[in-house]
Order: sequence, then structure tokens, then C-alpha cells
Amino acid sequence: METVAPYKEIIDVIKEKGGDTFKYCYQCGLCDVVCPWNRVRDFSMRKIVRQGTFGLTEIEQEEIWRCTTCGTCPSRCPRGVNQIEAGVALRKIGAEYDVYPGQAATVRNVVANLTSEGNSIGGERGKRADWAKDQQVKSFTESMEILYFPGCYLSYDPRLKKVAVATAAILNKAGVKFGILGEKESCCGESIRKTGNEDLFRKLAKENIKTFIDAGVKRVLVSSPHCYHTFKNEYPEFMVHFEVVHMNQYLVELIDAGRLKFVGEYNKTITYHDPCYLGRHNGIYDEPRDILKKIPGLVLREMVDNRENSLCCGGGGGRIWMETPKEERFSDIRLAQAVDVGAEVLATSCPYCITNFTDSSLDLTEPFEIKDITEIVQEVI
Ligand code: SF4
Ligand code: SF4
Repeated sequence: METVAPYKEIIDVIKEKGGDTFKYCYQCGLCDVVCPWNRVRDFSMRKIVRQGTFGLTEIEQEEIWRCTTCGTCPSRCPRGVNQIEAGVALRKIGAEYDVYPGQAATVRNVVANLTSEGNSIGGERGKRADWAKDQQVKSFTESMEILYFPGCYLSYDPRLKKVAVATAAILNKAGVKFGILGEKESCCGESIRKTGNEDLFRKLAKENIKTFIDAGVKRVLVSSPHCYHTFKNEYPEFMVHFEVVHMNQYLVELIDAGRLKFVGEYNKTITYHDPCYLGRHNGIYDEPRDILKKIPGLVLREMVDNRENSLCCGGGGGRIWMETPKEERFSDIRLAQAVDVGAEVLATSCPYCITNFTDSSLDLTEPFEIKDITEIVQEVI
């Protein structure tokens, strides 16, 4: 068994890189029971933690790249082990040695894209605001109410640009004075941090923080739970505090203030998927449901795995950039759950979830749509 640094040395490296809680593990195996991977194939976080405890981690094994950081096992561990921190600590060692085995090899391209163009997709920085052409979207100025930060996928991905367009339409309809940063916006850095590339995360975060401060930003509106998570919980590590709101929260605010009214009907049965980084990581469960319940004609049904027990889409922790074999996609299980409750639409609030559900290999016979809540709201205002 090859190790980058044998026995005690690697234990110290893991501790130094933030994975210290692995030492409390008593090998009960609960993390493996709750992990979504074990619904599609064998995977043992317990074993990864065990190997770390004895300094026997092999960074060339693909297993350390499998965790989607969904947040389920840390919330259940009886010993308070933070498996995500322990796993990311191991990836930091891999990233430092430039070792990205198997499916993780694509991370190298993402690193290159983020470094050269500031986005994970590989679009030109100068085209970051192209989605906003013809959408009555202005550049952000200090006198505006809020900065809209669409993030990488909504700026470049053809499917997800529709979510950015829907968001702008809603904000304009509600009379919100908002603006964007355009090519001055960089990737929030959340997911690359989970691949262990701390240096690149810090570079991206510092670029955004400088831009926010220079532009006089106080309040930031985001569409991605990943941007939400890092702005709210990780950017304060740089001694800055911007108020961050996810679009689901902002929609509730606009509705409650009487600035947004539903004038149409949405006569469909819908089920809502809680994205890991909105739900389990940040406790936002009620707002999306409150919005959907207020839409005339809409019938909301819950899937078997909902709220704290939501099934991960498979896209967190950098997995969105890795190819998952068809038979191992969590998205197939999730779509089947949606169909089981009679849903015609699977609604969610995260670009990674929409990407993974759209890529599902499940062959559905009935017409079935995957939508961001913003797109549904746009149809009824
Ligand atoms: S749930 Fe916690 S204590 Fe149990 S095996 Fe997993 S990490 Fe160890
Ligand atoms: S965080 Fe989620 S994907 Fe990662 S090991 Fe735990 S349950 Fe599995």
C-alpha cells in the first residue's frame, strides 16, 4: 500500500489540513448506512476515516473523491466526526501533489478555467453578462437595493441562463433596483474549495470581496445554494460580512411586502427537491414550499426523501465536474421518487441539481419537467 507520507506523518498532515475530528470515530458504520452512494454502489466513508486514523490513506485511490459533501453523515454521526472536513483534508493532500485519479481528472481542467477565466465552465470572462443582453439589467451601482450574483452556471450554461433571465424578469416586475457585476464577477469558489484547492478558493474569494467592496455592495442576491453557502459561512473568514439572500428567501420578502403578485394559475402537480446546500447545510426548507403553496392552481406533493432527509443530486463537492456512470447516478432515484408521487414537475433551486436531473438516464414515458422555482414564478406574475 503506497502512502504519500507513512503512518504518523500523514495523520499530522490530515490534522494540519483541518480534518482533526476523524480521531473521534468509533467505527459504528452509520455514515455508510445513510450515504446516498450505498444506494447505487459500495462506498465506505467509515473506511476512509479508518485509513486516515492509521495514516494509511492512499491519495491515488478514487474513493476520496466520491463524497458529494451532501451533509447527511456529519448530521448523524454519534461521535461528532465531520466527515466532510476529513475528506476535504485528504483531497488537499491530493491537490497539493496534483494527484487527481480516475473520474477526478477533470478537476484539472476546471482549475485551468477558473484560473484563466474566473469560471468553472470555460466561458470567456468577457461574455459573463451575455445572458443579460435585452433583459433590462444594469451594472450594479452603490445606490441600488441589491446586487444580483448569478454565478457561473447561470451566466454560461444554455439551460441555466433561462433561470437568470427569469430572475431578472421577476426583479423588474417587482420594481427592484438591482444590478450585476458582469465580467467583474468571479466564481464564488465554493466547490473548488471542496476539491481541496484552498489556494484557488482564496484567490477567487479575494477577487470577489475586493469587487464587492469597490462597488459598495451591502446585500447580495444569489440563485445558487453554493454561492449562498460560501458567501454566508466561508467569506467571513476574510473578516467581511455581506448580507446574502437566496432567491427563495427574496421571493418570500417580495411577496410579503406586496411587491410581487401572482396573477396567473399553474395547474400542475409539483414536487420540491431540497438542494443539500440550501437545506441540510443552511436550514432553508420552508421558504421554497411557502412560495409554491401560494401559487394558484399548483398542487405540491412531498417525495419520500424530503427536507433533512433530501436525497443528494450528486453534484456537490466538485462531483458536478466529474462523470458519473449512468447506473450510479442518484438523479435516477430522485426522478423515480418524483414520478411516484404523481408530479409533473420536479422543482428545485440549484443549478447543480437542475444539471444532474436533466442528465438523468431515466427513461420517462410521461412528459416531465425539471424547473427552478424562479421559472415557475415567472409564468404566473
Ligand atoms: S458515523 Fe461517525 S463514528 Fe460512526 S463510523 Fe462514521 S465517522 Fe465513525
Ligand atoms: S457527506 Fe454525504 S456523500 Fe459524503 S460520505 Fe457523508 S453521506 Fe456520503
